Amino acid sequence: MLDTRELGRRPGSQREVSRTVPAPADLGIEVLQVPEGSPVELDLRLEAVMEGVLVTGTAHAALTGECARCLEPISDEIEVRFQELYVYEDHALPEEDDEVSMLQDDLVDLEPLLRDAVVLALPFQPLCTDDCPGLCPECGARLADDPGHAHDAAIDPRWAALADLTQQNSQTEQN
Ligand SMILES: [Zn+2]
Ligand SMILES: [Zn+2]
Repeated sequence: MLDTRELGRRPGSQREVSRTVPAPADLGIEVLQVPEGSPVELDLRLEAVMEGVLVTGTAHAALTGECARCLEPISDEIEVRFQELYVYEDHALPEEDDEVSMLQDDLVDLEPLLRDAVVLALPFQPLCTDDCPGLCPECGARLADDPGHAHDAAIDPRWAALADLTQQNSQTEQN
């Protein structure tokens, strides 16, 4: 929550605010998140306009997750920009209630804004490296650790079992 009372309501008045807040739970997507409680650095500019307070800012935070291809842990950082107009309660039109962000007792609730900005900035499929080769479909080994990885089809136990079966079948037919 951000208090806008010091800003006043005179259109054009501005205030810069820098603060660090602990990350709320579930900030991000399932495979890539800002760890809960980790510091989120906010640099904000508040500007009084006719209808309310315009909040412009950046947020910087750490990210942890796992690679969508090879499941290796990922540590990264994110910086997002956002801007939102928070309308004074006494300026909002009743039919706008659902669509506009409102000041509540001169307080700005930054969490929904931060949440939207972070989710929009994240890749749907985070990768440890852009060209991560993923896992071996045969044995699940991480291919980036073992680039020359290959299987001899004859030695793979599943193929071997199939070969046995084929042999048995042909024997049964002969008998
Ligand atoms: Zn990977
Ligand atoms: Zn393999």
